Amino acid sequence: MSAVSGVAVGTLYVVATPIGNLDDITARALRTLREVKLIAAEDTRHSLRLLQHFGIATPLAACHEHNERDEGGRFLTRLLAGDDVALISDAGTPLISDPGFHLVRAARAAGVRVVPVPGACALIAALSAAGLPSDRFSFEGFLPAKSVGRRSRLDAVSEDPRTLIFYEAPHRILESIADMRDVFGAERIAVLGRELTKTFETLKGAALGELHDWVAADSNQQRGECVLLVSGWQAPEVDEAVSGEALRVLDLLLGEMPLKRAAALAAEITGVRKNLLYQVALERQKDA
Ligand code: SAM
Repeated sequence: MSAVSGVAVGTLYVVATPIGNLDDITARALRTLREVKLIAAEDTRHSLRLLQHFGIATPLAACHEHNERDEGGRFLTRLLAGDDVALISDAGTPLISDPGFHLVRAARAAGVRVVPVPGACALIAALSAAGLPSDRFSFEGFLPAKSVGRRSRLDAVSEDPRTLIFYEAPHRILESIADMRDVFGAERIAVLGRELTKTFETLKGAALGELHDWVAADSNQQRGECVLLVSGWQAPEVDEAVSGEALRVLDLLLGEMPLKRAAALAAEITGVRKNLLYQVALERQKDA
């Protein structure tokens, strides 16, 4: 218990629960859920099963995306009256593509202590076993449901050098991989993490083109919960990226006009990016 203006107030514990395997709940999470006065849960019926499994009888109240802003006041009142409250979601870590942000923000703004009780999180579980660079990554959450919006979001991150992590619903997994293949290129390496910590756990790594065909050929891979990890963009070697024909056009123009103009005109003629041709032109000038 902490104090706001000398009055004892409760603590809000943000408690991670399993993403499949119930053994993944931590000893601290169980103790916290047992000891708090109230548990704010995304879906009370779903969480009741979890609590019953562990013999925990703490009362539950709903805190989901539709009532979080209004009902948040109710949890805040309890906290300010001195009761400890735990926040949980249906699976994994609250606030990670799950409700809780408004409550946590309101609690902190009111001077209530907010304590994380960490545990399972699908994106971190997937990243820890995917074998893709994990020193820097970008969690992109869920992509838009429609292809136009999805492709534009993918376009926006297509030259991000960090490992990209997406959550996706099983009925959209195939079309999302198809869009990734088209936007990022069929050769970009990706890993599909499916049903992590559960009986049919799969971690399949392949180039996006191959991964798409593998998922398309096996309807089992289009079921269950999935995380997609895509390796970050790597700048192509300058010479490798520019075709012989584009180089020929660039060389011809370099003989006739200043470098910047030659690169711009060659880009218009060949469709190759101006910046890339500019870099190539600089290198060719250096070598000449
Ligand atoms: N808060 C959760 C967390 O910490 O990972 C995520 C909740 S979000 C509503 C649900 C999404 O997380 C699923 O659609 C899926 O993309 C991913 N996910 C959850 N459990 C998973 C699992 N066992 N295996 C793979 N992905 C999972």
